[in-house]
Amino acid sequence: MSAVGVAIVGAGFGGIGVGIALKKKGIEDFVIFEGEPGVGGSWRTNTYPGCACDVPSHLYSYSFEPNPRWTESFSSQKDIQRYIEHCADRYDIRRHIRFNTRVTDARFDEEQGVWKVSTDDGEVTTARIFVPATGALSHPLYPEIEGRDSFLGAAIHTARWDDTVDLTGKRVGVLGSGASAIQVVPAIAPKVGQLTVFQRTASWVLPKHNRKFTSTQQARWKRLPFAQQAVRLALYWTMESALPALMWYPRMLRVGELLHKRNLERAIRDPELRRKLTPTYKVGCKRTLVSDDWFPAFARDNVTLVTDGVERITKNGIVTKDGKEHALDVLIYATGYQIGAPAYPFQVHGLGDRELRAYWGTRSKAYYGMSVAGFPNMFLIMGPNTGPGHTSVLIYQEAQYAYVANFADRLLNGSETYFDVKEDVMNAQWDKFQRRMAGSSWLSGCSSWYLNPDGSNSTMWPGFSFEYVLQMKDLHLEAYRAVTLPARSSRSSVQSNSGPVFADSLQK
Ligand SMILES: Cc1cc2nc3c(=O)[nH]c(=O)nc-3n(C[C@H](O)[C@H](O)[C@H](O)COP(=O)(O)OP(=O)(O)OC[C@H]3O[C@@H](n4cnc5c(N)ncnc54)[C@H](O)[C@@H]3O)c2cc1C
Repeated sequence: MSAVGVAIVGAGFGGIGVGIALKKKGIEDFVIFEGEPGVGGSWRTNTYPGCACDVPSHLYSYSFEPNPRWTESFSSQKDIQRYIEHCADRYDIRRHIRFNTRVTDARFDEEQGVWKVSTDDGEVTTARIFVPATGALSHPLYPEIEGRDSFLGAAIHTARWDDTVDLTGKRVGVLGSGASAIQVVPAIAPKVGQLTVFQRTASWVLPKHNRKFTSTQQARWKRLPFAQQAVRLALYWTMESALPALMWYPRMLRVGELLHKRNLERAIRDPELRRKLTPTYKVGCKRTLVSDDWFPAFARDNVTLVTDGVERITKNGIVTKDGKEHALDVLIYATGYQIGAPAYPFQVHGLGDRELRAYWGTRSKAYYGMSVAGFPNMFLIMGPNTGPGHTSVLIYQEAQYAYVANFADRLLNGSETYFDVKEDVMNAQWDKFQRRMAGSSWLSGCSSWYLNPDGSNSTMWPGFSFEYVLQMKDLHLEAYRAVTLPARSSRSSVQSNSGPVFADSLQK
């Protein structure tokens, strides 16, 4: 059994960011378990054509590591992946990562006050602090449609793209019209023979105005980093200014409706097609999307929109509710990800054998999205209610990296064995969040993945992102129960916070 100060799960932006923050505090005694063979997380696994960010590049990066090499104003998956690789190298994170190692179980040992983290290579690692950074969008969701396994052609989920399937000239069906569909459809339309998009609900789609950066711009940002920081700051405040409309004044979102309609009218002449591509729910209730090429894709002769509802999948294709069979060679599931508690990738047992998924049920809660009562010294990255409706998730994540690093510093150098957030404090905060969101666009009546089955919201942060950042600056020690166990000898091997402790012993 090996021992470390901090065990992190996941080497996406989250896990790497926590690693960097720990290093900045002088803490080298940490391991990152990553199930995949490389860094990058969702940006490594989502390789479908057209995959890109819908937050501007200058804002979708770590604030401390601006990237003058961005090639366009909204980065492609490839550029973002290159950036994460660069960060992992620049901050010497790779030697802390155990690739191809999946965490299967984590248990808090109450007697020793440590986490025992089991991995699929049969090893158990003890850690004072446990940080799941497993991502909110990593587990593909397949729709419950009769006959799903009977299809004889190639079936691909956008989150697990298969490059070996040649789409050239094929009859391709895309299930879905959300964030990944609006990217994959325009990207493959020129290549395929016939493309049929099966839409259940239309999305609000605003213009993206993506543009390529010139080499002169890139050279300027390299030479004058403050110029790039100024662009970032301007983007940050522009996006932040959208929050009041989402949270308190949904009527202001009418502007979004007008932008959608103008975008649509420019691309599509047929009024019936325009009607089908216009949502009936209020803007902002589900994720609002951005694209310059989604509507123009439907002006192509080889692209058809079907809104009749999917009845079942057959060996030849899809039968819609009007009884028509649409013959397909390839079926693409652009149906998103499993969200929230049911998607949590392994069992986590805390005090009194409390199990995280069972404890949460369908309403996940965590104090500031990070600490769950009964799970001491565990800090979630992008846990409940830390999803942004209007800006980059990395703004929230950076505040979380610092919070973990400050707690790690305290725990590894202080006398307390563990901190457990008080249940009443956590619950009171969650209730407050629900009250704050009561009039928001997210609760304006549509069914969306933002919401729990009972209509409550465990996804969104109900406020400005700067509120979150400011509130997370200090440790909220008063919100936690501090416990100091008498016998510390068993943990003595994990007290140190200096030196590349496990580099030889743990790295594969
Ligand atoms: C297609 C797509 C587009 C997106 N666009 C945007 C956007 O425009 N703006 C935005 O703000 N956000 C966007 N996101 C959200 C994006 O996921 C986050 O911004 C960010 O990448 C999350 O990083 P993360 O490290 O928290 O999680 P992830 O990137 O999901 O990384 C989690 C890592 O944990 C690993 N892992 C999971 N379980 C285990 C286990 N049991 N053992 C070991 N390792 C495990 C996974 O392999 C993965 O590498 C997008 C996501 C996707 C999928």
